[in-house]
Amino acid sequence: MGHGGMACAQALRRAPVDVLVVDRHNYHTFQPLLYQVATAGLDVENITQPARHILRTQANADFRLATVTGVAPDGRALTTADGDAIPFDALVLAAGATTATFGVPGADEHAFPLKSATEALALRSHILERFEAASADPALVDAGALTVAVVGGGATGVETAGALSELFQCVLAKDFPHLDVSRARVVLVEGGPALMEAYDDDLRDYTRRALERRGVEVRLGAQAARVAPDGVALADGTWVAAHTVIWAAGVKAVPLAGALGLEQTRGGRLIVDDRLRVPGRENLYVVGDLAGATDADGRLYPQVAQVAIQQGRYVARAITRAVGRGGPPPEPFVYRDPGMMATIGRNAAILQLASGFKLRGWLAWLGWLLVHVVALVGFRNRTAVLWSWLYNYWTYDRGPRLILTARPPADDADAPEGAAPVAARTAGVAAE
Ligand SMILES: Cc1cc2nc3c(=O)[nH]c(=O)nc-3n(C[C@H](O)[C@H](O)[C@H](O)COP(=O)(O)OP(=O)(O)OC[C@H]3O[C@@H](n4cnc5c(N)ncnc54)[C@H](O)[C@@H]3O)c2cc1C
Repeated sequence: MGHGGMACAQALRRAPVDVLVVDRHNYHTFQPLLYQVATAGLDVENITQPARHILRTQANADFRLATVTGVAPDGRALTTADGDAIPFDALVLAAGATTATFGVPGADEHAFPLKSATEALALRSHILERFEAASADPALVDAGALTVAVVGGGATGVETAGALSELFQCVLAKDFPHLDVSRARVVLVEGGPALMEAYDDDLRDYTRRALERRGVEVRLGAQAARVAPDGVALADGTWVAAHTVIWAAGVKAVPLAGALGLEQTRGGRLIVDDRLRVPGRENLYVVGDLAGATDADGRLYPQVAQVAIQQGRYVARAITRAVGRGGPPPEPFVYRDPGMMATIGRNAAILQLASGFKLRGWLAWLGWLLVHVVALVGFRNRTAVLWSWLYNYWTYDRGPRLILTARPPADDADAPEGAAPVAARTAGVAAE
């Protein structure tokens, strides 16, 4: 259950409909903190919440664990990977996005994506396993065993690079006293002229300087041309020897979007009208990363959590009104942009509001911590994350440095085409 689907399902709490959330995972993932799981700052349980727990107090909601593969020809039922059909009166597609590697050779096979809980755990295990290997055979250090190349200088790339450098210097240097951890490297590769494209220049410069102060090597104007198990080749011919290459260079709509026979944007997002409906399909809505919704200037909305949440709530309002509760169809969807923020590391973050207000440094960092604790789902997770952060901050240490998993199959490998819909069935109207 993603941000958009969860917001929509919860906002239908009082509507005279039956809400069925269908997802291939039985939990919600708070993706903005995935990088902290991958860098041993948080446990994966702290950023995930069982879907049934989230829906437990909602009488008109239920959950179905299934991988959706498409919509039946009559447009009235979902099809699932286990051959089932799930009927609906209205469908909200909120299946999100997956990692986009833009056809770079070797990226799908050898780079580590960071888009799901299992991928974050696999990345953490791999990095720690490389340190263990180098500890057993120090010659591996020259070959890049302790080097992590991060491809993509957006929020995910920057946050991951900053957290990795602190993990190496503050924690693994103590864990591996007989290994020269000072030779561990984090190389952040960005194809554009600066990091954090969406922010103003001063915050972009601050971000680069703050990363470099933490020992991160920032390569700007450097395109990744090929990824191999032992490194990444850049378009300028240079080679970065790295046993870990993290791909944080972009997302595309999940493969489901391509199976529905609907119109899509260049990034695969499903085209919708200004009320988030698929043109010509009154009962088919799309929200979040999967939605190709545009603002008044025709620009696609950014693929961020707040857009998914606001769109989910908007569609819930539309469905509630459509079943005759609450007045005429709502006005066209308009995104209220609360601004954006990202961390770089300890006491360092940037914040830029839509109003133009900007902050950087520890005050922005404190703001980031508060916003993300509040946005987390569940009191238990909030307190656990707050405690972990306090512990990590006071002790310069981290928690779960565990090697648990091998590399999982690509997250959407088992979803030829599918979506995480909210199947709203209006009590006693259409179906019954
Ligand atoms: C590492 C990382 C950091 C991020 N940081 C931020 C941040 O700081 N701020 C911010 O605003 N945004 C951030 N984002 C983006 C934000 O997480 C997304 O914009 C948001 O999750 C989109 O919500 P959604 O509901 O569209 O999709 P998602 O939250 O991705 O949910 C999609 C759901 O659909 C399910 N699903 C997919 N396919 C199928 C199928 N075939 N069958 C059944 N179920 C399916 C998935 O299991 C998932 O539960 C980050 C994303 C990542 C990956």
